[in-house]
Amino acid sequence: MQISKRVQSIKPSPTLTIDAKAKALKQQGVDIINFGVGEPDFDTPINIKEAAILAINSGFTKYCPVAGTPELKDAIISKLKRDNNLIYSPEEIIVSCGAKHSIYNIFQSIIDCGDEVIVPAPFWVSYTDMIILAGGTPVIVQTNDKTDFKITPEGIEKALTSKTKAIIVNSPSNPTGTTYTTDELKVIAKICVKNKILIISDDIYEKLIYDSFKFTSIAEICPEAKELTIIVNGVSKAYSMTGWRIGYAAGPKNIISAMAKVQSQSTSNASSISIKASVEALNGTQEYVEYMKQEFEKRRNYMVERLNNIKGIACRKPEGAFYVFPNIKSVLGKAFRNRIINTDIEFADYLLDIAKVSVIPGSAFGTEGHIRLSYATSIENIKKGIDRLITILKD
Ligand code: PMP
Ligand code: GLU
Repeated sequence: MQISKRVQSIKPSPTLTIDAKAKALKQQGVDIINFGVGEPDFDTPINIKEAAILAINSGFTKYCPVAGTPELKDAIISKLKRDNNLIYSPEEIIVSCGAKHSIYNIFQSIIDCGDEVIVPAPFWVSYTDMIILAGGTPVIVQTNDKTDFKITPEGIEKALTSKTKAIIVNSPSNPTGTTYTTDELKVIAKICVKNKILIISDDIYEKLIYDSFKFTSIAEICPEAKELTIIVNGVSKAYSMTGWRIGYAAGPKNIISAMAKVQSQSTSNASSISIKASVEALNGTQEYVEYMKQEFEKRRNYMVERLNNIKGIACRKPEGAFYVFPNIKSVLGKAFRNRIINTDIEFADYLLDIAKVSVIPGSAFGTEGHIRLSYATSIENIKKGIDRLITILKD
């Protein structure tokens, strides 16, 4: 049976594929250091788990409203007010099965065949394929480490056409950790307002920001920008709840209601148990978030310092998320153990084969000559992994 052209036009998520490979090798007993993984290594906080257990024991195990329970919507509304000074009504909120699902629903709801979405590169792997699956065209605007991987006003202006429907802003970014300042977001917001293009603001790493850097969501810039913005956020990264699958979006009523329509015909509500757990995550103590953040900051500092001491590797110190995205162009084209490494993909393969260290090649994120390393793993593992990297680069 022929698979649809639509599905043939996309690829499986490279991050999930590489992570699955690393986990499978580990299960076979191979001593893998996994820098490929994009999820916090901490356990979900106990108060959140207890809320889920209570949900099960009290029979909160049935279908609930497609777009989320009033209780969770209220918790999200309070969070957006508390953290971002933004006011939303329940009709402007939808809860989905992860932020990934929220983004998928957005593209299904706003894209007509041939519509364009501006995607700054390097980008999180799923944006482009989700746009293609919805019939749209991703318009990639390349950035580089010389400009801290930030999109410039000229870059946006150049990408704009009569078909531009939306732009993605992901700050802090996956894979670079780059975080925009309020002033930088003002410039982007101004262009979007002038050209009436929607802004998809993927704020999933909001809570993971270091060195007293302040997070701003682009929706906070001005009321006109808020009107054009759909905020995407969730509990996966901030509360170490990747497996619970709860994400949400906040934005214009008509788009949220279109997303709910898509969701009503696909997944229905997100898991009722995870919904109860997420209410506790958002309304309960935030102490654990602070603890995780401090741990991530230590690991980031250690990893960046060690990487920058390796000849041929240049690593920008990111403001947020739990990834670094070093430039490895200086080591490309050289032979290691009689193997010529020409690309970031070959570099990542070499690293996995010989050093048993798993990383994601920059090409997966649309930017060659880099690799992404996640520091969502212990300092001991980071030390071991970087030691191995140094050893194989000496050979
Ligand atoms: N956006 C970005 C930038 C991400 O890195 C992720 C993590 N996979 C997501 C969205 C989706 O997160 P989740 O579906 O786990 O909520
Ligand atoms: N966001 C994570 C990553 O980039 C999880 C995997 C995924 O959903 O792509 O590794």
